[in-house]
Amino acid sequence: MGNRLSTHAVPPADRPVWTPEIAPALPRSLCTDCGISRTASAGDCGTACQFIKPDYTALETRVHGRARDLAKPDELFFGPFRQLLKASLKAPIAGAQWTGITTRIAEKLLESGAVEAVLTMAPDAQDKWKPVPVIVTRAEGMAQVRGMRMGYAPLLALLEPARAAGYRRVAIIGIPCQVHALRALEAKLGFERLYVIGTPCSDNTTTENFHEFLALLSDQPETITYLEFRADYHVELRFDDGRTKAVPFLMLPLSDLRPDFFPLTCRTCVDYTNSLADITVGYMGGTGEQWLIVRNARGSELVALLGDELKSGPPEDNGKPDGSKRAGAVKGFLANTERAAGGLPLRRMPKWVRPLVGWLMPRVGPRGLEFARTRVEMKAVESIIHLRREKPRRMKTMLPDHVWKLVERYGLTPRDGERG
Ligand SMILES: Cc1cc2nc3c(=O)[nH]c(=O)nc-3n(C[C@H](O)[C@H](O)[C@H](O)COP(=O)(O)OP(=O)(O)OC[C@H]3O[C@@H](n4cnc5c(N)ncnc54)[C@H](O)[C@@H]3O)c2cc1C
Ligand code: SF4
Ligand code: SF4
Repeated sequence: MGNRLSTHAVPPADRPVWTPEIAPALPRSLCTDCGISRTASAGDCGTACQFIKPDYTALETRVHGRARDLAKPDELFFGPFRQLLKASLKAPIAGAQWTGITTRIAEKLLESGAVEAVLTMAPDAQDKWKPVPVIVTRAEGMAQVRGMRMGYAPLLALLEPARAAGYRRVAIIGIPCQVHALRALEAKLGFERLYVIGTPCSDNTTTENFHEFLALLSDQPETITYLEFRADYHVELRFDDGRTKAVPFLMLPLSDLRPDFFPLTCRTCVDYTNSLADITVGYMGGTGEQWLIVRNARGSELVALLGDELKSGPPEDNGKPDGSKRAGAVKGFLANTERAAGGLPLRRMPKWVRPLVGWLMPRVGPRGLEFARTRVEMKAVESIIHLRREKPRRMKTMLPDHVWKLVERYGLTPRDGERG
């Protein structure tokens, strides 16, 4: 008997989680191996890839019935939505990344028969931080996939085995670069029903690189069982003996990482909040709770499935209409990103000041939706600066107009030939 994730060519009747065999990836330049290159239609990368020529306006219109409305507060930052919520499960699921809203939605979809399969990521049997694409066919299987793995893995390579197994009603849990390719190809897939539960994603890297980061955080990195960047400017670590530790962002050993620790893909992707998902389940705007971006009717249907298991309300927001609450942080980030991209050392505050500022930030810094806006603007700044330096010819096709709009107020404007 192999481990519970041993691969099978067909769904195993005796297990709720199926790990189909997946073909090798084809070489691609800017690529997070979403899985399309491993399918029989590998040529679809050209039209589906977020890193080639994304068309968010067309895809948002197809998926949500309209593109983001830049005149509507916050759609510039978060993409089209019906509702923004701060939320948590009244009974949090043990082992989930936050309270387990993602897991519970998927369980409900399977329990109710709304879907026959959920395509998502399980932890690798040898390396708990490594994502492995799996198909969950019964609600009890979701317990094996809760929690976050660091890295990316070929989620969309599961589309072929899922279709071959005859699944017509399917849910997918994915990060933005996976969801972009999925939506671009959705019409061709021919599913009767497709639910897309997205999470935000930023600062991702390969699982191999992530282990280097863990080794800087502890002299026994193998004992770390949980890591999360929280909205209170701390990274939370949990250890296998039950200890927990909160490290202020400013005290993180980020400057000890190699310059290419984060791949160019993850430094330049443009859809932090997963704007093409039916619902985005994150934490950035949640002030210590989860944050839901309900984008369309299907997203509302997913929230309704949770019924009174969910506690929810309006997100907090300490932003000011003129953006002044976040401007200092974003400008500082911009200056440092430009220095780093130019190979110059980061401007850092003296070591003795850092604990003080680390203490102050959660108290005086951007909070709730303003924290999320700050992070989205920083991500836009980062994408432009790194593409400009490393792949300037991609700027014209890779950067949607709204990304330029996000950074306009910081004096970052397109140069000749950079805008499509
Ligand atoms: C790499 C990464 C970066 C993230 N960055 C942010 C961020 O900057 N801001 C923010 O608000 N939220 C971010 N998130 C989302 C956040 O960490 C939580 O996953 C999300 O809030 C859901 O919490 P939950 O308790 O509902 O999840 P759970 O119920 O624990 O379910 C998590 C789900 O995510 C899937 N999953 C785990 N790892 C991966 C992976 N590597 N790739 C794809 N799917 C995976 C699991 O299979 C599971 O289905 C990130 C997630 C990932 C995977
Ligand atoms: S579509 Fe997916 S597999 Fe193809 S190049 Fe893009 S990220 Fe890589
Ligand atoms: S940071 Fe962006 S490119 Fe990297 S894995 Fe996340 S969504 Fe994909």
